[in-house]
Formats: sequence, structure tokens, C-alpha cells
Amino acid sequence: MLIFECPYCGVMAEETELTAGGEAHVKRFGPGSSDEDFETYLFHRENPKGVHFERWRHANGCGKWFLAARCTNTLEVFGTYPAQTTRPPEPILEAIRAKRPGFQWRDLA
Ligand SMILES: [Zn+2]
Repeated sequence: MLIFECPYCGVMAEETELTAGGEAHVKRFGPGSSDEDFETYLFHRENPKGVHFERWRHANGCGKWFLAARCTNTLEVFGTYPAQTTRPPEPILEAIRAKRPGFQWRDLA
């Protein structure tokens, strides 16, 4: 079972207390963007077997959205951080690189 620490209230929340919100750090495109960019925003998502950045909501707790870095293969959680963060915090990237040497975050912003 996945257990995340909510970065707002500090509770160690089991996955049953949370709602999954899909991939984090998706670059959004609005009016005036190309059809290809809008299609990418709407439909294209990563589905890695490995490190992934996701949106989660502490639905049965404080109700706030947060972001999490975890491995989809081992369910290892590398950390959580506020949803307003535009890129993963460096301590979380360092924790990932410590376990997955050579890991590079794909900056979509
Ligand atoms: Zn919370």
C-alpha cells in the first residue's frame, strides 16, 4: 500500500485516504496555442515503469492537492511537496539520484 506524508498537515496518509490526480508538472496550453500543443496537454501522459511525479489529493484529510515522487515499479516514495511547486524540489531529486544514479527529470515547463 502506498503511504504518503501530506506536505500540508504532516499526516502519513494511506492511499485509501487519497485521490489520485494523474501526472504532475503537465505543461498547460491555452487559447492561441497550436492544435498539437493542445492535444499534448489533453492526451499525452507519461506512463513510466520507474520514477514518476504525480498529483494526489488528501481527500479524507485536509483536502489539499500535493505532488509526490514515487517509483511505479517498487512503490518507493521519494517525497511529497506542495502542488504549487513548478519543479521537483532539489532534495527529492537528490533522493532519487541516490537510488537511481543518472536519473534526469524531464523539465516540461
Ligand atoms: Zn493533508
